[in-house]
Amino acid sequence: MITIGIFCAASDNIDKSYYESATQVGHWIGENGNTMIYGGADLGLMECVAEAVKSAGGHIIGVVPEKLEEKGRVSNLPDRIIRTHNLSDRKDEIVAHSDYIIALPGGVGTLDEVFHVIAAASIGYHTKKIIFFNDQGFYNSLLKTLDEMADKGFIRHSLSDYYDVANSLNELKEIIKI
Ligand code: AMP
Repeated sequence: MITIGIFCAASDNIDKSYYESATQVGHWIGENGNTMIYGGADLGLMECVAEAVKSAGGHIIGVVPEKLEEKGRVSNLPDRIIRTHNLSDRKDEIVAHSDYIIALPGGVGTLDEVFHVIAAASIGYHTKKIIFFNDQGFYNSLLKTLDEMADKGFIRHSLSDYYDVANSLNELKEIIKI
């Protein structure tokens, strides 16, 4: 059994095709009783992927900062809640518990999480990689920007040390053998 960290959209105002892909990813995580650890809110792709993991028989851990709990947007799906003081602790908790970390499509919160993980890896805090789930090419322009930064010498190691890209669920299954 493995634990997979998921970063993804809190927005509900997105095309339904993203929910379909997130559901497929969630079912695949849950099928063999694996665990998902994530932000624990009842919003957007977060709630969608949590429902899918759970309905497929998986386990869910929500990592919830105090502020979010005060606002009452905590999902009732998680089997376990880990409480943190702030957003930084939350990211570190998710990294610490995860065997793999996947970024599904998301907004600035997801980007903050992704780059927290990459920046920490770049200075040796951990060796975990992000896997961009590049659903419908969602991350193409970001990946292009990162390639341009690397070409200009602004990234000290090979980008492949920090992340992999899965363009489909099949490619995700090639990277994470569960
Ligand atoms: P965003 O990508 O901006 O939609 O933000 C979603 C990501 O940031 C998720 O992976 C969450 O871990 C975190 N996040 C942002 N907003 C919230 C919220 N209201 N409740 C819980 N987590 C959130």
